[in-house]
Amino acid sequence: MSDDTYLFYQSRNPRPFLDHGDGIYLIDETGKRYIDGSSGAMVSNIGHSNPRVLAKIKAQMDKATFGYRLHFRTHPSEDLAAKTVAMTPEGLDRVFFVSGGSEAVESAVKLARQYALTQGQETRYKVISRFPSYHGCTFGALDLTGYDPLREPFAPMLEGMPKIDAPATYLDRDNLSEEDRGLKYANLLRDKILEEGAENVLAFVMEPVGGASTGALVAPDSYYGRIREICDEFGVLLIYDEVMTGAGRTGKFLAAEHWGITPDIVAMSKGFGAGYAPLGAVVAQARLVEPVLDAGGFLHGFTYAGNPLACSAGLAVLEEMEDQGLIDNAARMGEVLMGELRALMERYPFIGDVRGKGLLTAFEFVADRNTMEPLDPSLNAYDRLVELAYERGLIIYSRRTRGGTAGDHFLIAPPLIITPDQIAEMMVILRDALDAFALETGLPVGK
Ligand code: PMP
Repeated sequence: MSDDTYLFYQSRNPRPFLDHGDGIYLIDETGKRYIDGSSGAMVSNIGHSNPRVLAKIKAQMDKATFGYRLHFRTHPSEDLAAKTVAMTPEGLDRVFFVSGGSEAVESAVKLARQYALTQGQETRYKVISRFPSYHGCTFGALDLTGYDPLREPFAPMLEGMPKIDAPATYLDRDNLSEEDRGLKYANLLRDKILEEGAENVLAFVMEPVGGASTGALVAPDSYYGRIREICDEFGVLLIYDEVMTGAGRTGKFLAAEHWGITPDIVAMSKGFGAGYAPLGAVVAQARLVEPVLDAGGFLHGFTYAGNPLACSAGLAVLEEMEDQGLIDNAARMGEVLMGELRALMERYPFIGDVRGKGLLTAFEFVADRNTMEPLDPSLNAYDRLVELAYERGLIIYSRRTRGGTAGDHFLIAPPLIITPDQIAEMMVILRDALDAFALETGLPVGK
């Protein structure tokens, strides 16, 4: 086998070749096992190589792998749409399939725009989002994304959609109650809508629990209801980007359910296909979709949208989630994992915050817990800890972002099938990697 490669991604890829998956584990070609502690990029919600799912996909493969949606209806796509509607909160009852998260976000925004046109609201086009945030890497989705390293090289080619600060309350040192802090951040949306002119604002897009950009950032409870109220007050559509949080990741099918919120439109992907097929969905309220269909249809669609093979995989994934009770397991195991991560703060004073919901959890490094000043960037903590864990057979996911400054945070988001013993196994490796990191950087370690 040659090391030559014709492939390129973000950078040259030094990783070993993957051989196969087995539940929460991935095994490389040398036989080394890794715990997939981040489900890839928060994708593999039901674990790897699930034989029941593979059998269902194979059965569809034997019948038809592709039938263009304008030529045929297919049972996998109809059935997956019905199942999705059944699993999402009441009111979200129309589904449009796509192949990934960026596609889902852009489709959601285009649907919002077409709906506004049916209402005679031609001036509404601005989509407000948060900083930091991540919504995808195609131009439209990148323009909503609040993450400078990905935006800056393309800045002149982006329209520049308005942004408000994400509710990074763990950095705040004011005397407000949690509830008031939540309201303070939510009211930034009201100010921004007034600044832009409500008649120009189409939608607000947010990740209900932050993902890659903010590291499992959860807002105070008061934030969510207030955001819904503000959107209603100004006729602004509320789009939840649940690409990472959807499909059970946070212990509910949609994270929106934690706060009893019904968004107007939801974007999903990642765990929805759970790595068994490139798949995503836009789930919207019928009151938005029906006028668009009446006005001649949604002027949008990808060739692979709703293809029967991907949809059969999605359907098998959701059935598996139900049969195994994986969403409840995510809630239970999330509690266990959060407890373990919080306990790390005793030994490692450079862990400044632990946060998350269900099995979307994170910890963040700081130089000082009182000031929440980030660690010295030259330590390259976000990279080093990932490498130290990888060497020891644990995959975790890191980024360096936060409000105005850069903070190293690490996402721990294993497949929803994880057991308490497997969490313990993961923590042994994580502690070992943290010890190694402290040793090489000279950072202090407690008992
Ligand atoms: N939105 C969110 C919240 C995401 O986490 C991601 C992927 N990290 C995307 C959108 C984009 O998804 P994709 O990479 O599948 O295009």
